[in-house]
Amino acid sequence: MLIAGNWKMNKTAEETAEFCHALKARALPDEVDVAIFPAFTSLAAAVQALADTEIAVGAQNVHWEEAGAFTGEVSAVMLRELGVYAAIVGHSERRQYFGETDESVSRRAAAALQAGLSVIACVGELEAEREAGETEDVLRRQVLALPEDEDLVVAYEPVWAIGTGKTATADQVREAHAFIKGLLDAKVLYGGSVSPENAAELLAQDGVDGALVGGASLDLDSFVAICETAARIH
Ligand code: PEP
Repeated sequence: MLIAGNWKMNKTAEETAEFCHALKARALPDEVDVAIFPAFTSLAAAVQALADTEIAVGAQNVHWEEAGAFTGEVSAVMLRELGVYAAIVGHSERRQYFGETDESVSRRAAAALQAGLSVIACVGELEAEREAGETEDVLRRQVLALPEDEDLVVAYEPVWAIGTGKTATADQVREAHAFIKGLLDAKVLYGGSVSPENAAELLAQDGVDGALVGGASLDLDSFVAICETAARIH
């Protein structure tokens, strides 16, 4: 089971180092794989602070070219050089605010995998799409755009559950994860308001291979509690 913390645009490098040293001191259970995804500016601090641990560090995005005229972007080669092991692609906030499309997500994922990074690719429907009965169509379109690769993990993140405190029901999670696994041979994480209170129920559902945790991953006690819950369920 993998618990991945997506910090979004939070924590400076100094705050990251402090969090990582405190996380290291908490002796996380061996049964769970743990990764954090800080902002680009904090990646070096995280890699350094966690160098002698099993806790992995990933980036929140990655470009498809190695180098060139792409202002504001960072390539997989640059991330690899830092000691970063993975990148998230296609987070709904990227799709919603930064014009990310299935095609650009696919290009980012393919380039990252090619360069030796693992990838967490996010998919998920909007509330209006679920209400209109379009969830499977949306998931099919998003998932089939992804390259199949043993280092690619899918995160099912219903957009209406991200940062809202609303979570998908156990039935909705099982159905979506089974549907995704029917399209692509990959591990599937659940994401969307995962907390220490609801982690046990969500992680115990069939087809759930871990969680992508946003808000609750910023707080050390909450993040450790979710990791410990995952270890009990693994
Ligand atoms: C996320 O950002 O991927 C996420 C799931 O956020 P939250 O846990 O805050 O809903």
